[in-house]
Amino acid sequence: MRVVDIIAKKKAGAALTEQEIRFVVTGFTQGEIPDYQMSALLMAICFCGMNRDEIFYLTDAMARSGRMADLRAVGGITVDKHSTGGVGDKTTLIAGPIAAACGVKIVKMSGRGLGFTGGTIDKLQAIPGFSTDLPEHTVLENVQKTNICVVSQSGDLVPADKKIYALRDVTATVDSIPLIAASIMSKKIASGCSCILLDVKTGSGAFMKTPQEALELARTMVELGGHAHRPTMALITNMDRPLGCAVGNALEVQEAVNTLRGAGPEDLLTLCVELAANMMVLARMGELKDCRAQAEAAVSSGAALAVFRQMIALQGGDARIADDPSLLGTAAHSCELLAPQDGFVSHIDTALCGTAAMMTGAGRETKEAGIDYQAGLLLHKKPGEPVKQGECVATLYANDQAKLAAAKEALCSAYLYTSKPAHSQPLLYARVSDAGTEWLHEE
Ligand code: URA
Repeated sequence: MRVVDIIAKKKAGAALTEQEIRFVVTGFTQGEIPDYQMSALLMAICFCGMNRDEIFYLTDAMARSGRMADLRAVGGITVDKHSTGGVGDKTTLIAGPIAAACGVKIVKMSGRGLGFTGGTIDKLQAIPGFSTDLPEHTVLENVQKTNICVVSQSGDLVPADKKIYALRDVTATVDSIPLIAASIMSKKIASGCSCILLDVKTGSGAFMKTPQEALELARTMVELGGHAHRPTMALITNMDRPLGCAVGNALEVQEAVNTLRGAGPEDLLTLCVELAANMMVLARMGELKDCRAQAEAAVSSGAALAVFRQMIALQGGDARIADDPSLLGTAAHSCELLAPQDGFVSHIDTALCGTAAMMTGAGRETKEAGIDYQAGLLLHKKPGEPVKQGECVATLYANDQAKLAAAKEALCSAYLYTSKPAHSQPLLYARVSDAGTEWLHEE
């Protein structure tokens, strides 16, 4: 088999065989196929796509490129949750403890943020002492004790994705549904959970700009999960506006604690209850309506916050932050963004908002860059809300004062205003399972 023939075949729009796909994935992971040939193949896939069989073989070959985690020792059904990435997306910190408080066993392997999207691991590392690198036996013990453990993806899982993703990042080949689906699902399958809940984001702050594109990605991943005998469901949710009001690591942990106390932003709580309820459905704990009611009760009773507190303690973190999030610290410097006119906020460009947060130091531009855990944004006004000229719409925080001016400029251009109230947007578009697609909001 020659790689050049495989590239030519895909360039001509033909489907690759299982053997060809496994040959390329293994050869590239082992360093036998050079970056320039893999780049050419990835670009051909971006233009010509892949059919369902090809995507399945690619996902499977990637999942098997390293160690496959074995979580059977946990006993029963384990559930993983994955978001395709967004701005202000701290749902794992809230939906995870809610579902765990209701009895779902969750092992979540997460990544770090890159570019304008934040990562769960960075948010958790804003908690003093919190460890996200735990040996597998400690992960299993923690899940036995408190039903949840959130850790960094261990280095020996899915080495193929690490190499391929790094190449896609610098060859403009990220935005391909087959490649995104195989990248995400190979990691989920290798992580070992029996079921997977996906939060597929759509809008200006997401890879998938329209609900239709998000639906295609969601359907592909739900099918891949089914093929791998890992029942998978997906919610398609709005990322055309930041989720909640906080963007930045310590600020988001603080907002997560407030939400678990029932005092967080409404959009965030609604989405987290929905995610937790769907995780319960996957764990075969009942009908969605009953699971939703149990999830709401876990917040109002304080049970979900108690799980979060225990999870922090078990992972070596300062659990007092669950009662006093001010212990996360505040950035040394801040500045305010003021409304330029009377009217209403019509839109916040979510990617620009994420970029502004990154510029404060809350995110990293390159994989190696460090993070300022207290840096970020608090959005006091969101789309649809009325404003008066000169009113503060957002506050920016940074420990490095020099970063604030450029970040403020980026955030200023993210905010748009109108004189009349704008249409409100749905939070949830659709729910996708092997039974089909249920539209929760008509497009
Ligand atoms: N997240 C991933 O893990 N992979 C992609 O390709 C895109 C988003």
